[in-house]
Amino acid sequence: MSLKERIKQGLFLLDGAMGTQLIASGIEVGKCNDYLNIESSDIVSNIHKAYLQAGSDAVITNTFGANKFALARHGLAEEVEKINTAGAKIARKAAGEQKYVLGDIGPSGNFIKPLGDLEPKDLEDAFTQQAKALLAGGADGFIIETMTALDEAIIAIEAVKSVSGDLPVFASFAFDRSGGDYRTMMGVDVESAVSKTILLGVDAVGFNCGSATLDEYIELAEKFVSAVKASGKDTLVFAEPNAGKPELVDGKAVYKVSPEDFASAAEKIHSLGINIIGGCCGTTPAHIAVISKKLQVGSG
Ligand SMILES: [Zn+2]
Repeated sequence: MSLKERIKQGLFLLDGAMGTQLIASGIEVGKCNDYLNIESSDIVSNIHKAYLQAGSDAVITNTFGANKFALARHGLAEEVEKINTAGAKIARKAAGEQKYVLGDIGPSGNFIKPLGDLEPKDLEDAFTQQAKALLAGGADGFIIETMTALDEAIIAIEAVKSVSGDLPVFASFAFDRSGGDYRTMMGVDVESAVSKTILLGVDAVGFNCGSATLDEYIELAEKFVSAVKASGKDTLVFAEPNAGKPELVDGKAVYKVSPEDFASAAEKIHSLGINIIGGCCGTTPAHIAVISKKLQVGSG
């Protein structure tokens, strides 16, 4: 079954965090995680396998920072194709033909003109280049994640859609709760994020990462469901909360929400009609395993 058909068939579990799992595997903070697809593919592959074993229906490639601009910060701007194709191949091999691979695309980390000096066309070319390389490695679809600027998200979606053909495209934003409202770091609210991305024809719109408690993520999920309803479209919603708000321990962000508490929140999010659920920072295969156990029952 194609990914596009599969996501309409009820519960579809994404995976949990890659970054915090890499740190747990001993990878230094600040290293180029994406380059591990070339350098230490076993570490990446083992994380994918652990999520698949835990019950994930899809794994997300280790390519979050593998656009030209993000890679340039590690002197790797020339390696876009190699890193993304390798990342998709590692995930494809782990997932086999039964499970799915979503090619991960994160923000450039730069600002578009006039706020910064990034030309929209250069950004579009960078995302197109990344999406093509993910496709070449065997991705079944794309997930554009942790977006905070609407203009960048729109460019990313258009770029990906220019090469994705019939494959589904997911897009998500990172929200914080500030002053009683949910906004991205760049001030985008849920309604604008949802209405603008839906118009571009994404298959699923959602939220990931950011900074919120589990109760706040549930509230955010409610807002997403109503915003999609208000649009009159049947675009799917997906949710990838962090394992709660991080606490700083010895200068490091530590996520303390247990798999059980995370799964209870996931259950509430699922009861709102959201069928595509995974986790962002701080979530582990143990978190996905409990969700899988709790939600698979009776949900087809
Ligand atoms: Zn995150």
